[in-house]
Amino acid sequence: MTMNLAYSNENHVSWQQALVESIEVGIIVVNTNFEIEEWNQFMENHTGFESTDVKGNTLFKYFSDLDMHWLKNKCRPVFEMHTPVFMVWEQRQYVFKMQAARPVTSPSEYMYQNITIFPVTGSLGKVDRVCILIYDVTDQAMGKIRIEGLNDRLKQISRIDGLTNLFNRRYWQERFEREYKLTIRNKTDISVLILDIDHFKGVNDTYGHQAGDAVIQKLADIIRVATRETDIPGRYGGEEFVILLPDTPGENAKTVAERIRKLAEKTTVTHETTAINFTVSVGIAEFNTGFKQPLAWLQAADTALYDAKNSGRNRVVTFRM
Ligand code: GH3
Ligand code: MG
Ligand code: MG
Repeated sequence: MTMNLAYSNENHVSWQQALVESIEVGIIVVNTNFEIEEWNQFMENHTGFESTDVKGNTLFKYFSDLDMHWLKNKCRPVFEMHTPVFMVWEQRQYVFKMQAARPVTSPSEYMYQNITIFPVTGSLGKVDRVCILIYDVTDQAMGKIRIEGLNDRLKQISRIDGLTNLFNRRYWQERFEREYKLTIRNKTDISVLILDIDHFKGVNDTYGHQAGDAVIQKLADIIRVATRETDIPGRYGGEEFVILLPDTPGENAKTVAERIRKLAEKTTVTHETTAINFTVSVGIAEFNTGFKQPLAWLQAADTALYDAKNSGRNRVVTFRM
């Protein structure tokens, strides 16, 4: 389709004119000085400026934040090469800042626009005007943005444990396996911790399951406080947590583990009116090439945890080959 409008200066209201007025698309015609020659009903409705007032004035008077150089550049090929240009809302939300059609119900105050600018040939066969079409695509755009947001949210939810907001087991394992492979290639120090709350059955039995959940959440908070941005903590099961510590040799992992153990020991969880104290045991395994599978490395940490439990609980044990 070639878009080109034969322009007439005659002033009678033709059916074409009625169409221009009633269509739900903004129509502006400007000359080479960007002075307005046509401004349809849609433009009146969405800007509040009357056609009779704007005609003859520069377009830039009515859109104060419109970048003049940018628009002139966009229009250059239309005037000189007679080729239309198109702009979509994904590039910029709007070119002409206007209120959304339903600002009350729409989550966006301003209109999302797709824009087409095409040449208008005058009587001498020269392009001395351009026609700007403004399509209100707010509903479409908001729909697309909403779906994108939901997809992000869904992705997030599928990675996150609902009770603690830490990574869930499945996603943590995925990260663990990825880090295992990277470590074999990059030969950096990296350690993994497994934490388990001591005598947790007792907490549930004495104070109830909800109180138990509050303790689990508190330990997650402690882990968040005690670890770095680059560490990868997850909830592995009921009251078991795992933390992957990149760039961390066993010695330093021990410092982190002790920090968590001590914080847990001196933390009191208040559930309803009861004060609950708890302790944790921690197993540490620094990576070494003897672990032929990611699981072997994790099992080493679990062995250390088992030793921590057997040697009295509320302690940190490092795995030794
Ligand atoms: P240990 O010191 O040997 O770890 O003793 P423990 O009592 O903690 O033993 P174990 O790890 O076997 O028990 C964990 C208990 O945690 C079993 C289960 O009732 C409870 N549990 C598991 N998941 C949840 C949960 O999401 N919420 C609550 N409140 N309790 C849970
Ligand atoms: Mg357990
Ligand atoms: Mg336990």
